[in-house]
Amino acid sequence: MNDQTKKQRIYSFELFPPKTAEGMEKLAGDVRRLNAVAPAYFSVTYGAGGSTRDRTFETVSLLRGQGIDSAPHLSCIGSTRGQIRDILRHYLEQDIHRIVALRGDLPSGMGAGAAGDLRYANELVAFIREETGRAFHIEVAAYPEVHPQASSATRDLENFKRKVDSGADAAITQYFYNADAYFAFVGACERAGIEIPIVPGVMPITNYSRLARFSDGCGAEIPRWMRKRLESYGDDIESIREFGHEAVLRLCRRLLDGGAPGIHFYTMNQATPTLRLWQELGLPGAERIRA
Ligand SMILES: Cc1cc2nc3c(=O)[nH]c(=O)nc-3n(C[C@H](O)[C@H](O)[C@H](O)COP(=O)(O)OP(=O)(O)OC[C@H]3O[C@@H](n4cnc5c(N)ncnc54)[C@H](O)[C@@H]3O)c2cc1C
Repeated sequence: MNDQTKKQRIYSFELFPPKTAEGMEKLAGDVRRLNAVAPAYFSVTYGAGGSTRDRTFETVSLLRGQGIDSAPHLSCIGSTRGQIRDILRHYLEQDIHRIVALRGDLPSGMGAGAAGDLRYANELVAFIREETGRAFHIEVAAYPEVHPQASSATRDLENFKRKVDSGADAAITQYFYNADAYFAFVGACERAGIEIPIVPGVMPITNYSRLARFSDGCGAEIPRWMRKRLESYGDDIESIREFGHEAVLRLCRRLLDGGAPGIHFYTMNQATPTLRLWQELGLPGAERIRA
């Protein structure tokens, strides 16, 4: 297999910043439950163009309040160098030393003129290194099923390598449900001389219509057999959850058995689906999960 498991595996959780005070309060409870298994870190998404800047800061503060290490996401599209510099400074002042560096997507309706000073994530990685040296551990995004705007898989891989060559320490993939896509991508990266850990991103399935909408936009494929099964459950949420759980559990087992260097769980701010997977996979700390 590949070399991805040479070091200790990394398990992490992704959150998004809630829009309301009630959402933030609910998240505090889910974070407390998730933190029982002591993941390596929690990452917090960031709306492109700075649209969630303050809420991302607030979510990072919530984590700090519980003594948890966080990795805020930072996207460059729509921002100036000065704005990005201010955010980096803010995080260093908060003693945060891990960041997920992204390009982001311009919100629809914003013209190309709103693109900002840095066009691609590799430029953001280079800028973070220029400004802050090795102060941050930098993760970047990877796309085993190819980024939807890439002109070809080969070009996308070359562009991924640019991010690594600019100073990225590790990558987290877009979610996928086909383990072969991940292993083929990791193999291509190794042949291209890319040596950083490429941690698979895993999205638990709890709501089919939301997942289908999301997947169309980000280029993640839901295999036909899964779509057909999920569609056939209609509004039967319980069956969707059970089928989704079993499918994602099998995916995680294949990834870990095949040498993946960890798992990044897209929790969607819900503790239960991720903790159920964690428990059944027997990951470190599973015995501390309370029913
Ligand atoms: C783990 C993960 C976390 C995410 N978190 C967020 C988030 O918090 N907020 C958010 O808004 N979005 C987030 N996204 C979505 C992401 O912003 C989008 O997928 C976006 O379209 C691409 O971002 P990127 O950093 O991968 O871009 P890039 O790596 O810059 O790639 C974007 C496209 O441009 C091409 N490209 C890259 N570099 C070059 C170059 N130098 N020249 C020409 N073409 C190039 C690539 O092939 C690709 O098609 C996340 C995605 C992942 C996988």
